Order: sequence, then C-alpha cells, then structure tokens
Amino acid sequence: MSAENTTQQNNFIRTIIDEHNASNRFGGRVQLRFPPEPNGYLHIGHVKSICLNFGLARDYNGKCNLRFDDTNPVKEEDEYVRAIKEDIKWLGFDWGETEFYASDYFDTLYEYAQKLVGKGLAYVDDLSSEEIRAYRGTLKEPGKNSPWRERSVEENLDLLERMKRGEFPDGTKVLRAKIDMSSPNMNMRDPVMYRILHARHHRTGDKWCIYPMYDWAHGQSDSIEGVTHSICTLEFEDHRPLYEWFLDKLEIHKPQQIEFARLNLSYTLMSKRKLLKLVNEGIVDGWDDPRMPTIAGMRRRGVTPAALRNFSESVGVAKSNSVVDVAQFDFAVREDLNKTALRAMAVLDPIRLVIEDYPEGKTEWLEGENNPEDESAGKRKIPFERELYIERADFMFDPPKKYFRLAPGREVRLKHAYYVTCTRYETDDEGKVTTVYASHDPETRGGWSNDGRKVKGTLHWVAVNHAVEAEVRLYDHLFTEANPSAARDDESFYAIINKDSLKVLPRVKIEPAIADCAPGTRFQFLRQGYFCADLKDHTAGRPVFNRTTSLRDSWAKIKKKS
Ligand code: ATP
Ligand code: MG
Repeated sequence: MSAENTTQQNNFIRTIIDEHNASNRFGGRVQLRFPPEPNGYLHIGHVKSICLNFGLARDYNGKCNLRFDDTNPVKEEDEYVRAIKEDIKWLGFDWGETEFYASDYFDTLYEYAQKLVGKGLAYVDDLSSEEIRAYRGTLKEPGKNSPWRERSVEENLDLLERMKRGEFPDGTKVLRAKIDMSSPNMNMRDPVMYRILHARHHRTGDKWCIYPMYDWAHGQSDSIEGVTHSICTLEFEDHRPLYEWFLDKLEIHKPQQIEFARLNLSYTLMSKRKLLKLVNEGIVDGWDDPRMPTIAGMRRRGVTPAALRNFSESVGVAKSNSVVDVAQFDFAVREDLNKTALRAMAVLDPIRLVIEDYPEGKTEWLEGENNPEDESAGKRKIPFERELYIERADFMFDPPKKYFRLAPGREVRLKHAYYVTCTRYETDDEGKVTTVYASHDPETRGGWSNDGRKVKGTLHWVAVNHAVEAEVRLYDHLFTEANPSAARDDESFYAIINKDSLKVLPRVKIEPAIADCAPGTRFQFLRQGYFCADLKDHTAGRPVFNRTTSLRDSWAKIKKKS
C-alpha cells in the first residue's frame, strides 16, 4: 500500500468502518477497491479516489484491489490499462497481487444471471432501446410493463443462452431484472443487465457477444472479490438500492456501498469524454500534455506524488458536492517543491549587463546553495564574468520610486555574486534597451557587504560565455472559465478554450550546471517559479524545461485572511 507520509484525517467513511468493526459485520476485515474504467488516463479526481481507498486500506491494515471495470469493449484499450497502472505506482501505491478485471468475472456473472432468471427475477425483453426508454416512464409518471415481462423461466433461460451463443443481432434483445416498473427510483424500473454487442473485447476477444451493464457488473464484482466497503461518488447514491437488490436476491457476500462527493477543481475539466476530445482534436499534445489534469500530464509538468497526496488529503472527504479552488492545488505543489526542488538561475527574457570595472577574460567560480531548505542538497559552482544576462524586466531607465531593481545610479545585489551599481545603458533605434552597464564592489563577493550597507533588490543572472540556451514552456489554465464543465455544446466548449495556455520561450539562458540534468529533475529558478526538465524532449544538447507553477502564493494569502 505504501505512501506512508499522509495519514488520513477522520472522516465519515472511517466512522462507518469503525462501526462495522465494532459490530463485527465483516469480521474486522477492511477491503476496498479502486475500479477505473480503462477508457482514458487517470486525472486528479481519480487521485482523490486512489488516495482515499488505498489510504484506508493502509490505515486499517486492510487491502485495496485494483479492478479494471472493463465491461464496455467499444471504448476500452490496453494502452489505458498500462497507463493507469504506471500512474498509480508513480503516485506511491501498490495493489500487490490483487490486479483484477471485471471481464475475469464474465462467466460467473453469466451464472448469476441464470440464477436470477431461474428465480423468476430476470427476463429477456424484445423491446428496442427506444421502446424501453418510452416504457420507463418519468420521475412523475410510473413506467409500463414490457409485453415480454411474463415469459416463462424456461423460455427466458433458452433465449438468454441463445443471446450468448450469438444467434441475435445487436440491439434486438436485452436481459432485464424484474423489479418494479412503478418504483419512484428509476434505477429499479427493470434495469437492463445484458445487451447484445458483437464487439471484440481487449481481453476476452470474441468469446462474448453479450456484455454486462455497469450496475450488473459492479456490485457482483465487489462481492466476488470479498470487498467490504465499496466507495463510489455521489451520483451512485440512487443506484445503491439496486446494488443491494442484486446481492440480496443472489444471496452472496454483500459489501457496503458508501458514496462521497467527487472532487471538482476550478478551471479544470474532469470528464474523460471531454479530455479525450482535447486529445483527439489536437487541442493538447496527448494525454500527458503538461496542461492536462491527468496524472501523466501533471507528472510531466513537474508536480510531485507527495504534492498530489497532500492536496488530496487537504480537501477532505465530503458528502455534498463543491468546487475546490485550483489555487489550493497550486499551494500544495509549491509547498512540496519548496522543500525539494534544487535552486538555479535562468534568465527568461535576457538583456546584457556589462560590469565595466571587471577584467575581460576572467572567470570566477562562485558558490550557490542548491536548496536553502535542505543543506544536504549541497552547493554548486556558478561562473561569474564581465558580461552577464539579466531579465529585461529588472532594468528601467526611468523607474518609479518603489522599483527596487536596476536603474541608473541604483545599486542591487547579484545573487551569490556582488553588489553592482548601474552607470549607463544603451538602446536600439526603437529605444529598446539592449545593454546595461554597471560597476561592482569587489568587497561584496558572495553578495554580502561588510559595512552594513543594504540593498533592496536581488537579481538573478547568468554569465554570457557560460550560459546554455534552453527552451522554456510556460503554461496557463486550459480554460478561460472557472467552470468549464458548464459548456454543454461544442460551440460553447470551443469558446472557453484558452488560446494562450502555452507560451514557448526558445532562448532562455540557464546556468551551465543544470543543462545536463536528467529528464524529470525539478528546479526552482530564482524569482521565476518551479520548473521541471521535460520527460520527453529534454536532452543535455537541447535543454527543455516546463514551468510547474509560479512562485506567487495567492492561496497562502487567502488562507491567512480567513
Ligand atoms: P468519467 O465520468 O469522466 O468517465 P468515471 O468516474 O466514470 O469518470 P472511472 O474510471 O469509472 O471514471 O472512475 C474510477 C473511480 O474513480 C470511480 O470509483 C470513481 O468514482 C472515481 N472518480 C472518478 N472521478 C472522480 C472525481 N472527480 N472525484 C473523486 N473520485 C472520482
Ligand atoms: Mg465510471
């Protein structure tokens, strides 16, 4: 199970488990499952569910199975199975031997179906799907019984067998539970259990041409595995009576279904169907595009597994739906990266700074700590020379009073190096600054003055002759609206896509020490944010860094105020 660092807070699910343990309902056993459908990559909503289920298993010395809910052959693929496993492991959880597939239970489910038919509790229906919908009634009106509802047990068993053998075309027959067409709960109005679908399944191949519906497969799979607590999201609350009806009628082990509120994040979409659309239409560069809310995307962006687990814990487990501010997620990312990311200097929008009283051709190797939060991260050598790069935004020739960076006559600290004072500057024909000139104080080596003289500004810089050029990718939200799931049709969906969610800076200057870092290495570029060497494109010859998040900490401020 692992991922030891995050112990869960108390929540209503733990209260239920404690009660079951006290009453010995499951003999003290706690067994959970995480049941992804392999029809897309896992996203941050799934992270919530994974941390909850695997976390409970860890804290109660129980088990958590991984079960692929692969009952829909049309949308499911092995690529997703592989990616889902990789992502759960990367998050820090381990399902041990218990990797299951709902499709492993197709034979048992079929026997269970025969059992219900035998008890007169399921029947083969010849109505078309449109007719079934029409007969179902509405929330205000009861449904109508199908004319095929009273078939004999023998006829139903025979038809079911022939459905399975492939004698009927898609959509011509279904197996339905015989419950109550006037139930106030629509899920109880003779729900469909099996449909005919002549489609190849990613694991069972062509063995089956009838496939179980979600409600028919899910609870029985839980039961077969011996799950004690089947945790799902709120929209399944109305399905619980059906979940229990099947298990009661089959007289098999009955887990307890418990619903909790799904995680929603502002500016973030979590519908796999819509995420797939972004991928298929090339609006993003695959499921692992760093702007995607998928685990694979966030990993490429530079988010750490610990940050995801901490965030998931910090939002708690609720019984009613709400939307979490994405700033709270950024806060968790920064909090973890601040402890672990290596510090380095990179100039994103460079202009030249020439130290005129520093000898030409001389290089000094100065020292900088790799992480002030962690001494064990050690130090690195940083070359200093007469010509440096600084940020364009760090110089103004006509600055306002509160500007504490470089301006004619003003003194600043160059991080890890010297105090420098601006003497003059040059512009191009359009008046754009090209070069700034300064003198330095040799007594301030390392960036500290002995005479107690203070400077307000500290700038980052990179030596021109030792600089390595890198590509830096800056990201913004994929959507311009806080609630992108509100877009119901294509037109409104396309309208809220943020056209500026990716900005590529092709000529960033970085310190030589970090150019040959391994893909995935995380840095704090001083004053610029957290960055991660891209997992796919970064090489020592062509360094590529993704910005994980900026340094701005709006959530910390929000938290302080409240
Ligand atoms: P979608 O509707 O986008 O296809 P899903 O919920 O059907 O998503 P599954 O693969 O079936 O996706 O989900 C696996 C598990 O993850 C389920 O138990 C589901 O309840 C849980 N889950 C999915 N999304 C969220 C979310 N936003 N918050 C919490 N749990 C979630
Ligand atoms: Mg689902």
